[in-house]
Amino acid sequence: MIQEEIVAYIRSVFNKPEGFIPLHAPYFGGNERKYVMDTLDSTFVSSVGEYVNRFERMMAEITGAKYAIAIVNGTAALHLALVLADVRHGDEVITQPLTFVATANAISQAGGVPVFVDVDKDTMGLSPTALRTFLENNTYINEEGVCINKTSGRRIVACLPMHTFGFPLRIDEVAEVCNAFHIKLIEDAAESLGSYYKGAHTGTFGLMGTFSFNGNKTVTCGAGGAIITNDESVAHRAKHISTTAKIPHAWEFVHDEIAYNYRLPNITAALACAQLEQLNSFVENKRELASLYKNYFSEKGIPFVQEIPGGKANFWLNAILLNNREERDNFLAFANQQQVMCRPIWTLMTRLPMYEHCQKGDLMNAEWLEDRVVNIPSSVRFLPV
Ligand SMILES: *Cc1c(COP(=O)(O)O)cnc(C)c1O
Repeated sequence: MIQEEIVAYIRSVFNKPEGFIPLHAPYFGGNERKYVMDTLDSTFVSSVGEYVNRFERMMAEITGAKYAIAIVNGTAALHLALVLADVRHGDEVITQPLTFVATANAISQAGGVPVFVDVDKDTMGLSPTALRTFLENNTYINEEGVCINKTSGRRIVACLPMHTFGFPLRIDEVAEVCNAFHIKLIEDAAESLGSYYKGAHTGTFGLMGTFSFNGNKTVTCGAGGAIITNDESVAHRAKHISTTAKIPHAWEFVHDEIAYNYRLPNITAALACAQLEQLNSFVENKRELASLYKNYFSEKGIPFVQEIPGGKANFWLNAILLNNREERDNFLAFANQQQVMCRPIWTLMTRLPMYEHCQKGDLMNAEWLEDRVVNIPSSVRFLPV
């Protein structure tokens, strides 16, 4: 039986004949303890400290962005990025229906309304072709140069594509379409730290990119986030409104706008710095696992998701495609009952009660993927602790 064979194979690559195999476990094999202890010894555990600055420098260096701003989690980073892109109450933001709910929630939190456009089958990320078709059929550019949705009459201010499971989408083409329609591009790169497209790090193709350092991501600090940008004024405002918009002063408390308490604490940043030091070895390790999976599944004739030409994925979560929803559900029931943690891709945003009324394009590919994609265990393996 193929299900049993697959589960046995997963157990063999993790060298774990029995017991629970998680989908993605964090790995703390570097300077984590030392750096966290430093913050305790120094008493600088909160929003000011050396590690939070170091974290920002490391993120800028890793991604090649000019600026990185440390944020308390990935959802807050998305929310703040949308605010910085001038998304106001009643504005629309285009995103993909196949994503983690945080992407759509952040749009709502900024006062925006999500509009859902289809993904490409091979990248599982926003399709530039579907985006262009949707914009050509549903929008016009007004006298002020703003993209207006003909159906709703609202401004379409931003586009928020997401690099699913760390597989880069066709982001250069999405950027081109966004430019043509005067729409700001923000990349939800929460899952794609260490993933590149045509030589540039994901998150650097638009005005801003955002990252998450939640417990299940490739690099984690428990909870954490970041915004990257090449725009100096955006970077400056990101820092300002993520730290209560306080005017720097030796003792006085003066704040010049309604703002947020979104800065990553130093104690958490310490953990993040230690993890970022290991990013390259994590990604290498994960790509080795992906290549084992690829060989195995191609022998079995089961499609295994790979990066598209020009893309270099971090293989955060490996994914296979089963034939239909019934096969998917049977496999998930079996694997999880065997304590090998496997998960389906997300239920489409357009099926959730809070987003089912939103405008959407033809979502053929997203629906097709929703029935078939299964994530299999993808943790870093065999590193000494
Ligand atoms: C993890 C994730 C986020 C943000 O998550 P946080 O838990 O808030 O850090 C946002 N978008 C996607 C696609 C994610 O996977």
